[in-house]
Amino acid sequence: MACIFCEIIAGRMPAHRVYEDEFCLAFMDIMPISSGHVLVIPREHAANIWELSQQASAALLPAAQKIATALQKSGLPCEGINLFMANNAVAGQSVFHAHLHIVPRVQGDGFGLRFPPGYGQTASNAALQELAQRIRAAQ
Ligand code: AMP
Ligand code: ZN
Repeated sequence: MACIFCEIIAGRMPAHRVYEDEFCLAFMDIMPISSGHVLVIPREHAANIWELSQQASAALLPAAQKIATALQKSGLPCEGINLFMANNAVAGQSVFHAHLHIVPRVQGDGFGLRFPPGYGQTASNAALQELAQRIRAAQ
C-alpha cells in the first residue's frame, strides 16, 4: 500500500503545506491536537528514526525551528510548543513515514504526557551508570 506522506510529497494527495526545502516538507496535521499542529517530514521515505539518513535527520530540526518561530509570530494561541516523534506502533506511531509533530500549547489545553504508575523516584547512581555504560557501548 502506498505511503500517504509520500503521496503528499508527490502532490497526489492534498495537504495544507506551510514549509518546504530540499530535504523536508511541513503541512497541517489533519487531526490536530491543537490549532496550528504541524507535521514536518523528510522528503525521503524513511519509516522511522532508525531509517532516516543523516542528511534528512539534520534537516528536520532546523525546519521545525522555523515553523516554531512562525507559530509564535502568527498570533495563533501558542504559549509553548511540544516537539514529538513516535517511532513504532508501541510508541504511538500510526503513519510509518518519519515525522516530527509540532504542537502549540496553551495553559489548560488538556494535552500532556501520562507518566507510568510509580514515576517520581530519582534513580540510583549505580543504575544510571550501568544504563549509560550500556548505551555508550552500543554506539
Ligand atoms: P503518529 O500517530 O505520530 O504516527 O502521527 C500521525 C499523524 O498524521 C496524526 O496526527 C494524523 O492526524 C496525521 N495524518 C494522518 N493522515 C494525514 C493526512 N493525510 N494529512 C495530514 N495529517 C495526517
Ligand atoms: Zn513515505
